[in-house]
Amino acid sequence: MSLVVMKFGGTSVANIERIRNVAKRCAKVAEQGHEVVVIVSAMSGETNKLLALAHEAGGEIPDPREMDALAATGEQVTAALTAMALQQAGKPARSLLGHQVRVLTDNAFTKARIRTIDGTKIGETVKSGQICVIAGFQGVDDHGNITTLGRGGSDTSAVAIAAAINADVCEIYTDVDGVYTTDPNICPLARKIKHISYEEMLELASLGAKVLQIRSVEIAMKYGVPVHVRSSFSDAEGTIVTSEDRFSPSEMERMTVAGVAYDKNEAKLTLRDVQDQPGVVAKIFGALAEKNISVDMIIQNVATGGAAATDVTFTVTKADVARAKSVIAEIGKIVGMKELVVDDQVVKVSIVGLGMRSHAGIAAKMFELLAGEGINIQAISTSEIKVSCLIAAKYTELAVRALHTGFGLDRKDVKEEGA
Ligand code: ADP
Ligand code: ASP
Ligand code: MG
Repeated sequence: MSLVVMKFGGTSVANIERIRNVAKRCAKVAEQGHEVVVIVSAMSGETNKLLALAHEAGGEIPDPREMDALAATGEQVTAALTAMALQQAGKPARSLLGHQVRVLTDNAFTKARIRTIDGTKIGETVKSGQICVIAGFQGVDDHGNITTLGRGGSDTSAVAIAAAINADVCEIYTDVDGVYTTDPNICPLARKIKHISYEEMLELASLGAKVLQIRSVEIAMKYGVPVHVRSSFSDAEGTIVTSEDRFSPSEMERMTVAGVAYDKNEAKLTLRDVQDQPGVVAKIFGALAEKNISVDMIIQNVATGGAAATDVTFTVTKADVARAKSVIAEIGKIVGMKELVVDDQVVKVSIVGLGMRSHAGIAAKMFELLAGEGINIQAISTSEIKVSCLIAAKYTELAVRALHTGFGLDRKDVKEEGA
């Protein structure tokens, strides 16, 4: 008998018929003699709807505490409905919300981080022969305020709960049948990856492959939780995310670049003509950090030809743009900024691979491939195992496909058929 955590994303619980399918699938696993804990997301589109309502009522920057109180309701609905569907299928089941489990988080509303999870109630529920259905995405802070874990946060709820209760596996059921070399919805030649290391998955997730939220991969890696990403619409084996030494690396390590990711969720802010003096950049980014705004890419040119001013460009997530603008409006006065330009029509495309560590010329090849399509690069960032370029959003598909083909990732079968 195993203890299995099964997480279902928004598309998998989009309507009652699909919730019934989820219940059937969970019931089947329970009938095989396993203990089952289910984590659910909100019905697809529901969180977006709730956040749009928050902006209607609360303006450009609604009160974050109330945003979370509202956004968490999406998962409350599906948790109760899933428990009912299980009961209808003849399986005793009980739903629990984040605060009932006691998923304790910090108080960074809309992007809270889990501190501890109390496994007692979950354990009691399962031991009493019931399937425990938990609302994902939500937690509670020290003061009893409801918090949420950031977009895609149900993945993190699932993996963190799996770690807390020592589950044998955390299955992530979604609308694709595994992790692919790139988003299969925009690149038909993407290939399913059988096994992927935590490290590579971490990079792919942090660079926009939203199939798993980045925090979920961090937690899986820290606690050694094996994660199985698979489809809720088929029985096909999906992708196992686990440590590198648990499988033969040949599949990935043969490829210098293991995957291509893109992130449309960033916006570029340029502060024109700020003073070119020591301490200016520290002031700008210090003020942003104080407001808990994470900055991703940064470019600053040194002023040349005796000029006293230069431009500073950086990217933040689109959700943080309004708050970043208000921070910059203040700090801009202090650093002599002439103008703030915001561009949200950008995308960050990235290549990822452990094999890049030992290969030179990968970045240059990426730049060439983008240039070959006439795509201009607006910012670049690199690490040992990834290269990212910021480009105009309208080139997303073109860039992803060109990089996927250029780095030899295309599915061979389809290529041959098309040849
Ligand atoms: P869920 O609602 O089940 O959590 P998400 O929409 O958050 O599902 O994540 C699944 C989506 O992730 C897929 O539909 C796909 O478009 C996208 N995706 C992006 N990159 C990848 C990748 N490398 N492999 C698989 N899916 C990816
Ligand atoms: N419902 C939340 C979202 O849409 C959490 C999740 O789906 O994982 O971001
Ligand atoms: Mg998701």
